[in-house]
Amino acid sequence: MVRRDIARRGVHNRRVLAVMGAVPREQFVPEALRAQAYTDAPLPIGAGQTISQPYIVALMTEATNLTRTDKVLEIGTGSGYQTAILAKLARHVWTVERLGEHCEAAAQRLKALQITNVSFVHGDGTLGHAEAAPYDAILVGAAAPRCPQPLMDQLAVGGHLVIPIGDRDSQQLTIYQRTESTVETRTAGGCRFVPLVSPHAFTE
Ligand code: SAH
Repeated sequence: MVRRDIARRGVHNRRVLAVMGAVPREQFVPEALRAQAYTDAPLPIGAGQTISQPYIVALMTEATNLTRTDKVLEIGTGSGYQTAILAKLARHVWTVERLGEHCEAAAQRLKALQITNVSFVHGDGTLGHAEAAPYDAILVGAAAPRCPQPLMDQLAVGGHLVIPIGDRDSQQLTIYQRTESTVETRTAGGCRFVPLVSPHAFTE
């Protein structure tokens, strides 16, 4: 999967590729779909949500430019797959999920994999998680019409914020980098995520 779907499509960061090869995706999908765990596609994980496509997980992770000492905020825990990838590359991950059942299931999965540098937060991720701010990287795994201001406010100077911005049906993977005085923006291609559900994003 790493060679066929990720490296060949342009993700070259060695640490990212190594971690993508080390985290067992089959443990994050429902039992009936385990045979498809290494196809490059999103898969249903219940409650209308999906585990992200491996290539997109790798692309977003690379865009965050993580180092081992970084603090990361993730919005939309889902299965916890992206969370596990981030946790293996950074110092600590705070991950915020709106649905309690996903929050709990993801915490169990990471515990089983002995990944301990993650804090699980149940709530509306458009507000971020001010208690542990600022973050060296922020990654949003659900589509938003615009970047929620609290997330930008909680990003450290020099940090990257990766978020799919667009309408419900299609988005551009958007990467903001905060500098001392400005915010630089670039896009890294089209994508399709489930909506970020909040009074500050999309309705359910
Ligand atoms: N990257 C994840 C998939 C995320 S799917 C994985 O690898 O499995 C998007 C997730 O965002 C869903 O679990 C959904 O419930 C959650 N979500 C949607 N709106 C949210 C909000 N406002 N705050 C926090 N989580 C939200």
